[in-house]
Amino acid sequence: GAWLGVLGGGQLGRMFCQAAQALGYRVAVLDPDESCPAGMVADAHIRAAYDDAAGLDRLAQRCAAVTTEFENVPADSLRRLARSRITTPSGDAVAVAQDRLAEKSYIQAAGVPVAAHAAIRCAADVDACPDALFPGILKTVRFGYDGKGQVRVASRDEARQAFGALRGVPCILEALQPLDHEISVVVARDLRGRAVSYPPSRNVHRDGILALAVADGSVPAGIADQARGHALSLADHLDYHGVLCVEFFVLRDGRVLANEMAPRPHNSGHYTQDGCLVSQFEQQARIMAGLPLGDTALLRPAAMLNLLGDLWFDAQGRRREPDWAGVLAVPGTRLHLYAKSEARRARKMGHVNILGADAAQLRERIARVSAVLGLPDADA
Ligand code: ATP
Ligand code: MG
Ligand code: MG
Repeated sequence: GAWLGVLGGGQLGRMFCQAAQALGYRVAVLDPDESCPAGMVADAHIRAAYDDAAGLDRLAQRCAAVTTEFENVPADSLRRLARSRITTPSGDAVAVAQDRLAEKSYIQAAGVPVAAHAAIRCAADVDACPDALFPGILKTVRFGYDGKGQVRVASRDEARQAFGALRGVPCILEALQPLDHEISVVVARDLRGRAVSYPPSRNVHRDGILALAVADGSVPAGIADQARGHALSLADHLDYHGVLCVEFFVLRDGRVLANEMAPRPHNSGHYTQDGCLVSQFEQQARIMAGLPLGDTALLRPAAMLNLLGDLWFDAQGRRREPDWAGVLAVPGTRLHLYAKSEARRARKMGHVNILGADAAQLRERIARVSAVLGLPDADA
């Protein structure tokens, strides 16, 4: 059978493998970690660094098409693979998503509004930026995730201090937005430029990490259509191939601003595994294989509850196994565990997808699962 390849062996690579295998493909994973989550389900595991030319060439020799699950994969590795193989997304598209400034300009060039912001490359940039950016959030231009590498700054003085504490790495200062809530849209765009989008999920974060994503059809049509239109415009503008997630802020006055994008399947799109006929991971495999895009309609109201490593420890810090039987006793639930070698606090270990007949039943089931796990009931 034909082979597909993926750079990165984390949970996203693992779920990609499983979806591609269900379509009859064999999958090769490139990841330096011997015991990575995708390595144990892949048909081949190439243990090499993401920038190891010999490893990349072995991946290309074996596979008809290659993708990435890891947004900080070196763009040049994707460019190297693209010389001989279908590579989705392109190194150029991933490079844009790796740089918050390039990302913001592409989003704006696609006609999609973003928060007011300024590049902060030196202390003088803090002095010169407009007053309207305060209060704001100073973010490193590269390598931030789960709210890491960002500091809220109430004033110009705090921004000077925060930039100093970040030791002058290139930053972006964004005006703090009056959020009503946050949503995201996953888009799948194929090699011929046809694209589909999933219904938006409403995303609730805890300590900067996604806790809950709810797709129950309750985002008002005006906002959902705008967000889906924006995500598709951005994918077109980038001539993007593959699966792309765009995060949005919905402001208290109803405006929709794009926050950032991820050039891969996204945590907030995991609900598509059980809430839709075709998941975001299967779309990724279909695009690589040149197969038709699948149906993105929401079958039933669905939610995704993240399982962080904290759940593997009791109040005394002793290791324990969460009560999976209790979770699965709640109707409409499915468990997805990533088989990570070790539980650590704040580490994404798995997720529970929850379905309900309607939004109210879904909410009730989310509350029940949260109670079993001892999680605060995150209200979307
Ligand atoms: P992710 O894990 O989603 O990749 P990240 O570390 O890349 O996160 P962002 O998504 O930019 O960071 O920001 C994390 C969260 O901080 C946002 O989801 C939002 O809740 C809040 N936030 C970020 N920027 C702003 C802003 N300009 N105004 C208000 N809230 C913001
Ligand atoms: Mg991010
Ligand atoms: Mg984000």
